[in-house]
Amino acid sequence: CQFDYQAPVDLLAGRVILVTGAGDGIGRVAARTYAAHGATVILLGRTISKLEAVYDEIEALGAPEPAIYPLNLEGAAWPDYMTMADKLYEAFGRLDGVLHNAGILGRITPVQSYNPELWQQVMQINFNGPVMLQQAVLSLLDQSADASVIFTSSGVGRQGRAFWGAYAASKAATENFAQVLSQELENTSAIRVNTLNPGATRTQMRSNAYPAENPATLRAPEDIMGTYLYLMGADSKGVTGQQFNAQPDR
Ligand code: NDP
Repeated sequence: CQFDYQAPVDLLAGRVILVTGAGDGIGRVAARTYAAHGATVILLGRTISKLEAVYDEIEALGAPEPAIYPLNLEGAAWPDYMTMADKLYEAFGRLDGVLHNAGILGRITPVQSYNPELWQQVMQINFNGPVMLQQAVLSLLDQSADASVIFTSSGVGRQGRAFWGAYAASKAATENFAQVLSQELENTSAIRVNTLNPGATRTQMRSNAYPAENPATLRAPEDIMGTYLYLMGADSKGVTGQQFNAQPDR
C-alpha cells in the first residue's frame, strides 16, 4: 500500500517538479525527498533565506541542482503566474509534477469573530493562488509524457469542523477544484490530479493549531513521504481524481 511504498532511488530521475511552500515543514522535506530520488526540483516560496537553505541541503545530497523561484502567493496576480510559467518554460521546457503544498492556518476561531481580511488572505494563499498557478502551468505539464499534480488537503477539507473557518473552506474548495480539473483532463491529457491529506504532522503549522500537544507524539514529515513519492512517480500513472491520506491512522 502507499503508506509504506518503497520508491526506487531513481524514481524521479529526469523529472522536473515544482514544490510550493518548499522552505519549511512538509514542503521542505518533500522537495528534498524528490531531489534525493533524482528530480530537478523548483523550490517556490516566500522566504528566500529558507529556500536557499533547502537548496544547500539538496546540493549537499549530491542530487540534481534545484532552482529557486521566490513568490508570495498572497500578493501574486495572474501576470506574475504567467511570468513564472514563461521563465520555467525557458529554463526547463516542461514540468513533470507540481506539489501544491504552501498554505497558512489562519485562526482557529468561531465564524462570528473571524476577521474578514484574514479570511480573504487564507483563501488567497490556500486556494485562489494555487488555482492561478495551476492554470498557468497546464501547458508546461502538457509537455510531459506523464505529469502528476498533487493538491495538499486536510481532514477538515473533507469534512468541515467547528472553528476551522477559512482554512477548512479553502481545503474543501481545493478538493472540489481537483475533482473539476481531473475530470477535464482525464481523457484529453496525460496529467493526473489527486489530493493528499498529510494527516497530523510535526510542523510549525500543526503546533500553531494545537499548542498544547506534545510534538513528539506526531510523525515527522520524513515519516510520511511514501504517498508523496507514490503519487509523484510513474507507479501512480493512470490514478486521477482520487483522495489520498499520507498516514493510515490520522
Ligand atoms: P508550515 O507552516 O510548516 O509550512 C508552510 C509552507 O508554506 C512554508 O514554507 C511557508 O513559507 C509556505 N507559505 C505560507 N504562506 C505562503 C505564501 N503566501 N506564499 C508562498 N508560500 C507560503 O506548514 P506544513 O508543512 O505543516 O503544511 C504544509 C501543507 O500541509 C499545508 O497545505 C497544510 O495546510 C497541510 N497540512 C498540514 C498538516 C500538519 O499536520 N502539518 C495537516 C493537514 C494538512 P514560510 O516558511 O516562508 O512562511
